[in-house]
Amino acid sequence: MDHFQLRDGVLYAEDVPMPVIAEDVGTPVYIYSRATLVRHARVFRDALSGLKHPHIAFAVKANPNLAVLRVLANEGYGADVVSGGELTRALAAGMKPEDIVFSGVGKTHAELQQGLEEGIGQFNIESEEEGYELAAIARRMGKRAACALRVNPDVDARTHEKISTGKRENKFGVPLDKAQEIYTALAGEDGLDMRGIAIHIGSQLADLEPLETAFGKVGELIAALRAGGCTVTHADLGGGLGVPYKAGEELPQPAEYGAMVERVTKDWDVTLMFEPGRVIAGNAGVLLTRVIRVKRGIERPFVVVDAAMNDLARPAMYGAWHDFEAVEPTGEKTISHIVGPICETGDTFAMDRECDVLTADDLAVFRTAGAYGATMASSYNSRGFVAEVLVDGDKYAVVADRIAAGAIMDAERVPDWLD
Ligand SMILES: *Cc1c(COP(=O)(O)O)cnc(C)c1O
Repeated sequence: MDHFQLRDGVLYAEDVPMPVIAEDVGTPVYIYSRATLVRHARVFRDALSGLKHPHIAFAVKANPNLAVLRVLANEGYGADVVSGGELTRALAAGMKPEDIVFSGVGKTHAELQQGLEEGIGQFNIESEEEGYELAAIARRMGKRAACALRVNPDVDARTHEKISTGKRENKFGVPLDKAQEIYTALAGEDGLDMRGIAIHIGSQLADLEPLETAFGKVGELIAALRAGGCTVTHADLGGGLGVPYKAGEELPQPAEYGAMVERVTKDWDVTLMFEPGRVIAGNAGVLLTRVIRVKRGIERPFVVVDAAMNDLARPAMYGAWHDFEAVEPTGEKTISHIVGPICETGDTFAMDRECDVLTADDLAVFRTAGAYGATMASSYNSRGFVAEVLVDGDKYAVVADRIAAGAIMDAERVPDWLD
């Protein structure tokens, strides 16, 4: 359920008509709904209410906007960060250091140090090498780093190959059959408090079975570690739950996920941690765009919109589907290609898509753009960075300014030795 609905023939974001935002802020622009974010955050939390003190950390990379993070901090969410920049954001948004988990296969020395200085809650270590480096930094600082070891369970998440992270050939985590040896070695390091196991097998999972298989392997590993004399008090089950990108698409509900987790982990006796991203933010945002013109094609018209692959990369990157709807639909439908202005054939949002009839200057939205949308934006083709707006009832605010192409150019120099 989201709060982007038609009222009297006009698409609203909560109680704000989208044409008002387009007029005021310009297009393209991302629009987030606070009520939808809050609803998703609560549905996910409620789905886990059968567990003892679950820890929920929003995956910041899905939507790192400060206002979005603040909404989730207010809901009691922590943050899963994958860079020093994300850590800085999570803290700036009001997330408590102890509620922050630091994941990522390539944390730099400076980032490990930053995490220790800020006193974050947990490092998810992705290799033995990283563990030793963190231990050395922590010792030098006179601290102990709480850590989970991320394992690669070698499970096919059955999602797009570029967002699958838990197969043995993927770069993430340590191989399951080496995990006990590595965990035991790191547990012996002064400076580290090895307390758990972490996994994250991929994103946009449409099926709970790969997750259940992976969780089962974590359960066996925890038992083996304890049998070997190690302490395990935490298990971080990652994120990955998919969202419907097409109206009417059926995906596993958070409640089914929660029930499965409860069943699989009932004997683990650990604090469970979660890192949802897409399922919280995906359907809480749309990308509002204006039609530049409709170009006659050989078989179908090309609807050329002012948003492009630099603003919303998912279709170009993953061949992803985003529902596309007119803001003021006439009821008439046609089949078109939906494209952006960028000089790449990849800058195509949809081919042969049945959609509302649109003409030049009409407004339209790409739905389900609240996760992995603005955060992946670039300035390719010397386009600016897209603006972001948060709506709350009949209020709205620009929560990220549009950064004009000229401002980006201002950061560049031509050295005088070129003359
Ligand atoms: C990306 C990521 C997540 C979030 O994934 P979603 O599919 O958005 O829920 C969680 N944990 C880690 C380690 C990630 O890299």
